[in-house]
Amino acid sequence: MKAEEAKALPKAFKQVCGGTLDSLNRQGRILLSDAGIEDAAVDTFLIMEKHLHIDRAYLYAHPEEEVSEKKAEKIREDLLRRASRIPLQHITGETYFFGHRFRVSHDVLIPRQETELLVEEALARLGARDNAYILDMCTGSGCILCSVLAERTMARGVGVDISGAALAVARENTRDLGVAERTVLVQGDLFEGAFFETCEKGCFDMILSNPPYIPTDQIGNLMEEVCSHDPFVALDGGEDGLDFYRRLSRQSRTYLKQEGWFLCEIGHDQAASVSGFLEEAGFSDIMLRKDYSGQDRLLAARWPGADD
Ligand code: GLN
Repeated sequence: MKAEEAKALPKAFKQVCGGTLDSLNRQGRILLSDAGIEDAAVDTFLIMEKHLHIDRAYLYAHPEEEVSEKKAEKIREDLLRRASRIPLQHITGETYFFGHRFRVSHDVLIPRQETELLVEEALARLGARDNAYILDMCTGSGCILCSVLAERTMARGVGVDISGAALAVARENTRDLGVAERTVLVQGDLFEGAFFETCEKGCFDMILSNPPYIPTDQIGNLMEEVCSHDPFVALDGGEDGLDFYRRLSRQSRTYLKQEGWFLCEIGHDQAASVSGFLEEAGFSDIMLRKDYSGQDRLLAARWPGADD
C-alpha cells in the first residue's frame, strides 16, 4: 500500500485491508505508524497474535494464507483501536512484567518496565531468605507482589488496594502465577481498615509500594495512553504528588519488623522529599537507585526498630 492510500485510513481501512496474513500485517503497520505509534510493527504483530495465536515465524512463512473474514474484521477493529491510541495492553488484556504474563484491565495501572527495579531490589535484600512476610501497598494488578513471591517460594504476602476491581485482577494474577495460596488481598486505603486493626504489629519483613505519585494538576499533561486509560486513582498523588509517601513513611514503622525493609518507587524529582520523610520517620540506610535511563527511581530504607 502506498503512502497516499494510507492517508485515507482509517476510514477506508476496512475496505483496503485484505484478508491474507501478509496484507493485514503490512497494512496494520502503516496504519499504526501513520497514527504515530512508535512500535507499529510489534503492536501489529501482537494484535494479530491475539486473534490468530500464531508466532512470528508462522506469519512470515505463510504470507498468502487467508484469514477468515470474521477474524480479519476483529484484527482490523483492534488495529483501529490502537491507532486511536488505546494502549496495546488494554487491547490484548495482558502485559509482561519481570518475565511473567499479567492480566490487566482498565481497573489497574498497566505495570511499567521500570517498576521491575523494585522487584530486583526486593529480591536482593531478601537474599537467600525464603520465608519472608511481605506487604505490597497499592498492589494494583499485583505485579510486584506476585513477582517477588514467584521467586521466593516459601514467602507469604499481603496486597492492599483501595479498588475492589483492581483486587479482582490481582486475584487472577496470583492464581495464574501459582502464588494465590500464599497471598492475602485486602481492600483498603493504605493501613486503614479491619485487616490492620487485627494485624500483629511489627510482622512484616518488607513493605513494598509503587503508590500513585503524580501531582493532581499534572495528570492531564501525561501521554494520552496514560491519562485517558490508566485509572486516575492509580496516578493521583495529591497536590504535590507526595501524599502517599507521607502516610507510608509514618505508618509503615508500626508494621515492620526490626531491621525490616521499606522500598518504594518514586517520581524522578521526588527523591529528596521522600528520603526526608523516611529520615524524619526514623528510617536508616536510606538508599536511592536510578533506573536504566538515569532517572531517580526508587528508595530503600531500613527500619531500625523503635527505641524504647
Ligand atoms: N503496584 C502496581 C504497579 O506497580 C500498581 C501501582 C498503582 O496503582 N499506583 O503496577
